[in-house]
Amino acid sequence: MSFGSFSLCKELQQSLIEQGYTKATAIQQQAIPLVLEQRDLIAIAQTGTGKTASFSLPMLQLLTKGTAATDNHIRALVLTPTRELAAQVGQAILSYSSLTNLSTTAVHGGVRIEPQIAKLQSGVDVLVATPGRLLDLYTQQALSFDKLEILVLDEADRMLDLGFVDDIRHIQKLLPIKRQNLMFSATFTNPIRLLAEDMLNSPATVEI
Ligand code: AMP
Repeated sequence: MSFGSFSLCKELQQSLIEQGYTKATAIQQQAIPLVLEQRDLIAIAQTGTGKTASFSLPMLQLLTKGTAATDNHIRALVLTPTRELAAQVGQAILSYSSLTNLSTTAVHGGVRIEPQIAKLQSGVDVLVATPGRLLDLYTQQALSFDKLEILVLDEADRMLDLGFVDDIRHIQKLLPIKRQNLMFSATFTNPIRLLAEDMLNSPATVEI
């Protein structure tokens, strides 16, 4: 299936041509239409299946519709378990959105927080973050969740393995009730099922 069959704007389509993507992968074929319908989603997919684009492309498409981020009000939050994954997902989203007006930044620990605070103040649509640094930034009032539309939990099973469950529950309480939730996990264990029941609203499920 080509990307032309999804309702993605021409800027996103063009960036896919530039990336050399011609055919949507299995997870992309299943997930993209559901996310565009603004459904909550639980997707069971391994790294290497094209999962990042399967949430990033429709997320960016939905964000092109609304009002651009102002001040430090982020519109989409992608939580990742590790610094490396935050940087990698941030890079992928930057490349997919390079022709749109949307801004993206990735934040994680181990680097100075001040440049991240300054960047957030300039208006960020998509924030990719590890849970610890996100909570640090929130505590320092460097960002607001008031305008948050979309939450993505990437590699949710690894987040639980790394002991982030309390951080995720804390973050959940800070977010607006009305939002779209996308959860990606390589495995569908009981703890993941329970987390999904708590955080997602009548989700569609796709499994690759
Ligand atoms: P991921 O599973 O998100 O880590 O993606 C694995 C790799 O596949 C990344 O290098 C992507 O750039 C690449 N990729 C994702 N979707 C496609 C596609 N439809 N066609 C070709 N490569 C892709």
